[in-house]
Amino acid sequence: MFQALINLLLSLAGASSGEDRKCTPCAPPKCSSVFVDGVEMNVDFSNGPMDVYLTNATHDIIVVKPKFYDFTTNKKVTKLKNIKWVPENVLRKFTKLNGQGDFLLATFSRIDSTINTPYPQIKYSCILGDPDATHDPGVLYKIPFAKGKKFKVSQGFNGSHSHKKKTRKHAIDIEMPIGTTICACRTGKVVDVVENFPDTSTTMAETNYIRILHSDGTYGIYAHLTQNGSDVDIGADVSEGSIIGKSGNSGESSAPHLHFAVAKSDGHVLATIPWKFKDSSGAEISWTVGQDLEHN
Ligand SMILES: [Zn+2]
Repeated sequence: MFQALINLLLSLAGASSGEDRKCTPCAPPKCSSVFVDGVEMNVDFSNGPMDVYLTNATHDIIVVKPKFYDFTTNKKVTKLKNIKWVPENVLRKFTKLNGQGDFLLATFSRIDSTINTPYPQIKYSCILGDPDATHDPGVLYKIPFAKGKKFKVSQGFNGSHSHKKKTRKHAIDIEMPIGTTICACRTGKVVDVVENFPDTSTTMAETNYIRILHSDGTYGIYAHLTQNGSDVDIGADVSEGSIIGKSGNSGESSAPHLHFAVAKSDGHVLATIPWKFKDSSGAEISWTVGQDLEHN
């Protein structure tokens, strides 16, 4: 599953004000690539000072924490002689890239413009998802398969087989034949789709899944889908109950089933959180491991 912890060094050797320049690719010595998992850094001198932009090409929420390095010494700095930046607290705060677009990280300028002091190198780490997200306590989740069907729950919250880690703790496994229609449990935006792995795959890295971002910043995760089993594209808005794909047996799965979980960023990973199903009338329903879950 997508987990990003990215460090990117952007070298601004020789940059001078008044120059229109994009760092693609940037100069040595410390830059590897400016394209990392859909986040890209660009600099713009067209306004005089140096504007540093982050471009989010994903539909996801990406949280960025920058670090500045003295260009000459390569040492991490929190202030620099003759250089100021706004917002002043950019190093202390998380900058949130909420959806696609360009986001101004900071604007740098020389306090004494007659001295051509180099601007800092900029390094940043990215975290997927919004650590400030709070699950809407009033939300119940629709059962992720068609009305009238029932399937056995093979594992629940904190299940000893594979639901012990925080990334899986609050998940349900529902046994169902490969190709069973899967519906969205909650309205949201599709932010990640993987569907290239065969149902004979066996490792976690080979899991087909759909991840949907909800309005409160949490995610619905639908995993072990069949190969080419997504009916939705990244960026699509889906409504509760709409068809999103077909179940399968991809990834670390001992029998065909759907793994569904609700998760949010804990600042490091997408940690699963407790959630509840509802029936067609909207009333909360419970389920039991080893018994059928019926969508009625
Ligand atoms: Zn599972």
